[in-house]
Amino acid sequence: MFKSHKIKTVYTAFLYFVLATLSGISCSKDQAFDLFVDNSLQDYFDRFVVEGAKRNVTVDYEAARVSGYIKEINTPNVIGQCAHDPKKPNTVIVDRTYWNNGTDLEKEFLVFHELGHCVLNREHLDEADARGNCISIMTSGSAQCRINYTMETRDKLLDELFKK
Ligand SMILES: [Zn+2]
Repeated sequence: MFKSHKIKTVYTAFLYFVLATLSGISCSKDQAFDLFVDNSLQDYFDRFVVEGAKRNVTVDYEAARVSGYIKEINTPNVIGQCAHDPKKPNTVIVDRTYWNNGTDLEKEFLVFHELGHCVLNREHLDEADARGNCISIMTSGSAQCRINYTMETRDKLLDELFKK
């Protein structure tokens, strides 16, 4: 009796293994372009769509193949990244420490900057206005201009971000 039970266990384990392998194969095939967006980022991804639509820019995350993650970024002074990859989704990564300590506008600035790269294909722009403020959300963060993203400057900076 002990023996037959043991065989059954082995058989079950083997069956699970086969099923896991099959589902693994079908998953990787079906989900090759599946996108993931961290729950905390979703609100900001949604806002980006709304602000784009106001300016006649259609943001389609499926078409742009953009995923979003919050992770610890260990490179000094880097708080966000957009990784372009022809074989995988383009990936926005936001630094967890920065995220946990940021204000709503700081988070929006960071996500919109990375989506500027990943969705709008924008490069960095470090131009300053007469007061030394960055004219674009797409600043590299180097000291050539000062970031001044407030409720007062937001509209104008978003106009610049989405301009074609
Ligand atoms: Zn950048």
